[in-house]
Amino acid sequence: MESVLHDAEAPPIVPAELVARGLELIPIPMVQVTLDSGRLDFYAMNRAYRLAGLGVVPGRSPMLADLTPRITAFIRSAQTRTDFDWSLGEAIDCRFYRVTIARSGPHVHDRCTISFIDQTSRIQTERSMQREMTTDSLTGLPNREGFENLVEGIEHRDSHAVLAIDLERFGRLNACLGSLAGDEMLITVARRIKGALRACDTLARIGGDQFAVLMTIDENPDEAHRLAERIQRTLVAPFRLTDYEIRVECSIGIAYGRDEPGDIAELIRNAQFAVKRGKLTGRSETYKRQEFTIAREQFGLETALRRAIENDRLRLAFQPICDLATQRIVAFEALARWTDDDGCEVPPSKFIPVAEECGLIVPLGRWAIDAAARTLSAWDAAAGGSCGVRVAVNLSAIQLQRDAIAPVVEAALRRSGLTGDRFTLELTESAIVTDPDGIATAMHALKDLGTTLAMDDFGTGYSNLAYLQKLPIDILKIDRSFVTGMLADRDKVSIVRAILSLAQALNMKTTAEGIETNELAQTLGALGCTYGQGYVFARPLEADAAFASISLK
Ligand code: C2E
Ligand code: CA
Ligand code: CA
Repeated sequence: MESVLHDAEAPPIVPAELVARGLELIPIPMVQVTLDSGRLDFYAMNRAYRLAGLGVVPGRSPMLADLTPRITAFIRSAQTRTDFDWSLGEAIDCRFYRVTIARSGPHVHDRCTISFIDQTSRIQTERSMQREMTTDSLTGLPNREGFENLVEGIEHRDSHAVLAIDLERFGRLNACLGSLAGDEMLITVARRIKGALRACDTLARIGGDQFAVLMTIDENPDEAHRLAERIQRTLVAPFRLTDYEIRVECSIGIAYGRDEPGDIAELIRNAQFAVKRGKLTGRSETYKRQEFTIAREQFGLETALRRAIENDRLRLAFQPICDLATQRIVAFEALARWTDDDGCEVPPSKFIPVAEECGLIVPLGRWAIDAAARTLSAWDAAAGGSCGVRVAVNLSAIQLQRDAIAPVVEAALRRSGLTGDRFTLELTESAIVTDPDGIATAMHALKDLGTTLAMDDFGTGYSNLAYLQKLPIDILKIDRSFVTGMLADRDKVSIVRAILSLAQALNMKTTAEGIETNELAQTLGALGCTYGQGYVFARPLEADAAFASISLK
């Protein structure tokens, strides 16, 4: 059958020739050729090829050589239909066809129809869309998706590493100089980083100011760190942008394929995870699995805490605050307590920082204010009038920044029928550092409700004491670290004395935290400290026990 296959018809036209002659090649969307005898009819085929805009060349055309064996194989088989994709030409002017061969019956001599459906423009559009979707238009580098595809395609994970590169303060630069200058800088940064890479490494831009490198590790395990250093060095030289000289610093996180037993795509996330630490240390940092485990635990804690808040599974413990002169309980500090689903007590030192980090401190803080007010009002009801004590609630700095505290306190007071003078709010100095004006407004609003304001952990935070004069603070709570072991430490005594005289000068009261012995309580009382709190009086108590401790007196 092959004997009929010789390119006899002339003159042949090849697409490239057509283009060279300035003629436009217009492919026919679909061409059919019928092989009547069931034999591969060269003339019919040739006509079809030409019609399809394919052209033929004299001698054994590569096109015929490529397609003919497949058609021949079909004719010889007992199949009645087959479909396949076929492409022709170089990468640049490649044309794509869907070829269908159908036969009227199962015999070799039955009539065959071969159709060529031109799919070139669809496939080209798809390919260019795909390229666009995986390329960053500014730098021409692969974007996040393109980079993910690259990483997912790695075959030997042990010999690869991903570097995540985060530019520092890029947002500020963009805001100050405009996005055009920012774009220009990103392009220059990309060019410089590329210059630091070896030919086998690939650079991508995976976010606004984030780049990533997929690199191969040959023999030297240090190669990734060396590359990171080269990148940092190349960025150190100042950039000239409009009239400014700008220095770009970057943090780099490295994740090794050999350390990632799971999904290879996790490498990018791991490298980005390591960047966070790089930002703190100012060096390039390698991803550590253990660190991720801690972050995952925190995330688990966060989820469980969210559920606990929603399901009202938190409770308050109450620790007495006593007047050091009379030993009478004047107030209780409300401290959050959480027993998790497994019945384990999670200490506030563990869950409060998590709540602050993920924003749960806002609902938690609201709950604490409300629960404290409800408990105090229940005690009043049980005492048949005011039970005579105040309740002190902790406010976190983040909660103060994010929530409108005064209206929350006002609503809690209203709901429980309490007056503001029954409430103390404990703030820390860190709140004042972050947003002095906002905090001052919030504090004045709280004072207007008649509440008492205490500065918690005093002496551990802010060194500039000017705020004490400006803000409506009633009580300084001397931090436990100065009180514990004070009697054996002259420096601590000096600090406590200084705080006490400062408070006196400013007309504030004082509470010493963490008093564990009678001797300490007496000494602090003698030094002029107003109130005391600590295990010597009582540990934090469940609400009922706390109420019992006042009704007994
Ligand atoms: P804090 O406000 O300084 O609370 C006092 C802490 O010292 C409490 O720890 C208390 O149990 C402990 N303590 C009291 N007396 C003594 C003593 O004599 N010796 C010793 N060694 N410790 C004593 P706790 O309950 O574990 O609370 C830890 C921190 O968690 C609190 O420190 C507070 O910053 C935070 N916290 C607790 N509940 C809340 C809350 O509802 N909201 C916010 N924002 N923070 C809270
Ligand atoms: Ca406190
Ligand atoms: Ca404290």
